[in-house]
Amino acid sequence: MSLLQYVVLGNTGIKVSRLCFGGLIIGPLQANLSFEQGGEIIAKAVELGVNFIDTAELYGTYPHIRQALKSINQEVVIATKSYAYSAQSAQESLEKARKEMNIDVVDIFLLHEQESRLTLKGHREALEYYISMKQKGIIKAVGVSTHNIEVVEACAQMPEIDVIHPIVNKFGLGIGDGTINEMLSAVERAFKMGKGIYSMKPLGGGNLIGSYDESMKFVLDCPYIHSIALGMQSNDEVVANVCVFENINTPIEVKNSLARKKRHLHIDWWCSGCGKCIKRCKIGALKLTEGKAKVNENKCVLCSYCASVCPQFAIKVC
Ligand code: SF4
Ligand code: SF4
Repeated sequence: MSLLQYVVLGNTGIKVSRLCFGGLIIGPLQANLSFEQGGEIIAKAVELGVNFIDTAELYGTYPHIRQALKSINQEVVIATKSYAYSAQSAQESLEKARKEMNIDVVDIFLLHEQESRLTLKGHREALEYYISMKQKGIIKAVGVSTHNIEVVEACAQMPEIDVIHPIVNKFGLGIGDGTINEMLSAVERAFKMGKGIYSMKPLGGGNLIGSYDESMKFVLDCPYIHSIALGMQSNDEVVANVCVFENINTPIEVKNSLARKKRHLHIDWWCSGCGKCIKRCKIGALKLTEGKAKVNENKCVLCSYCASVCPQFAIKVC
């Protein structure tokens, strides 16, 4: 029997495991696992008690989730998101999600990566569409994902927003407009307004993997976060993360296997070529190639110093 805790996500009535399967890193943007491989890892997480899966139209992981759902005989909660801003594009995004995952109802639909009050305003028509679909029972809850404190603050005051998916990690990596303490204050206010809060990137996109225990403890100890989305690329990572959430020891063979995993620096496609990371890397492991940062893996020691200065949060350790 799973020892994972389950909580109701704010005022939504949706019950989720505290550990949420973060769907980005199995897909084409990172590990590029086959549908079968990705589906197997998701199914393993569900077998161990995880009932909450986070994805996005951008991640390209609907087929992996569809594959997993074929072998799962229990209800899971799926959250997805898109950059749609008009009613038309929101409709297309919703239909794509339903079709590609082969589901009738999307539990949680979010506006992806909202940056400011202005961005929220620009996506209002899409939000209205999702709300109308919620009234028809096609979506159960609506909300936003964001790296920005301003958006958490704004959404806390919007009764039509059910769920907020903010970035929260010990060092505030990836927060666009302030510190981790400011983000936590905003999250607390949103939580107290009844919003469902599931955070993202507790390990700062892999950059905090060296301080895994303390980084996980930091988010797990936050009383204003219902659930935490964590990317997992293998069954071993699923087992290790479930153990942490269950507060039990990770089997030694799993620990050893993960310790042997060869990691590398990953630069996301949205790198703007600003060059800040290149200046920060004192051992010269980065250079600009065709307007994007490129890493020399023979030199890189995975210290993550470069990630701490990237304004685009485009540097990850996988
Ligand atoms: S992780 Fe460290 S060594 Fe590697 S590119 Fe970044 S700063 Fe340089
Ligand atoms: S700091 Fe970030 S955005 Fe700038 S070049 Fe490096 S990876 Fe690209």
